[in-house]
Amino acid sequence: MTIQWFPGHMTRARRQIQDKLKLIDLAIELLDARVPLSSRNPMIDEILQHKPRLVLLNKSDLADPEATKRWIEYFAAQGLQALPIDAVAGNPSREIIQRSKQLLSAKIEAQLRKGMKPRTLRGLIVGIPNVGKSTLINKMAGRKIAATGDRPGVTKGQQWIKVGTEMELLDTPGILWPKFEDQVVGYRLAATGAIKEEILHITEIALFAMRYLVGNYPEALKERFSLESLPQDPEDTDAVVAVMEEVGRKRGALLSGGRVDLEKASIAILRELRAGKLGRISMELPEEVLEFQGTDLR
Ligand code: GDP
Repeated sequence: MTIQWFPGHMTRARRQIQDKLKLIDLAIELLDARVPLSSRNPMIDEILQHKPRLVLLNKSDLADPEATKRWIEYFAAQGLQALPIDAVAGNPSREIIQRSKQLLSAKIEAQLRKGMKPRTLRGLIVGIPNVGKSTLINKMAGRKIAATGDRPGVTKGQQWIKVGTEMELLDTPGILWPKFEDQVVGYRLAATGAIKEEILHITEIALFAMRYLVGNYPEALKERFSLESLPQDPEDTDAVVAVMEEVGRKRGALLSGGRVDLEKASIAILRELRAGKLGRISMELPEEVLEFQGTDLR
């Protein structure tokens, strides 16, 4: 499902989240652990204002654990607690509640000091499309609540969903847009399957992914596709395309006459990458972002 984001959509999405801020104690920002900054909304700090925030690195089952560890340190250095989760196979509710209580401990203690019973913590899940918001809400609710693939600007009556006895979530997540204007961000999101490829060409996405794999995960790449050797330089386009062709031949992606169908080869490469068949792979590291964006960490 692809959402067409227009300026009007963005304004509406932003306003919808801001309207909900007064109802909640904390925002739960869902990111894709494989591409934490590419899957982040560029205006998130402005949108959430100073609301306490917990960052969840979802799909951590597909991400490189070493990279995830570094991302947690990266967020910690910015004063944000980040927790890796797997919304499909795991049940992160308990840990989310525990972290949320830590985050709001001053408020909870103040209530206790006044002799009040601490109020149920109220949270709102926010994130870009396809990051796993509905999957997480359903998991935390223990039943199917959110229809996957909500659209921005579609309002419905909102309800609180109980998560155990200490927490409630708004049933409709806040849907944010990614940082489209940055081409590398687009490729990272497309390679991981976070956005549909209609926007970018499939062979271009696969080439981008293949370069990254050659540069960062050569062993995983060799093993998955039984490759003897790889190009030294990931920027050597001809050599990287030759690897794609070799994979294509191995996957039977052939045109009549025996030439490799590069588009079919690309589909196979991306399908296997996204399904985790090459192992746990992250496509963005904190230091690459620092190099890339200079001092603008957002
Ligand atoms: P939403 O658009 O943010 O609500 O995203 P969805 O909840 O619809 O999830 C998008 C896709 O990601 C679905 O195919 C989910 O099964 C998948 N997904 C969600 N969370 C995880 C996770 O932690 N690990 C993996 N492997 N897949 C996930």
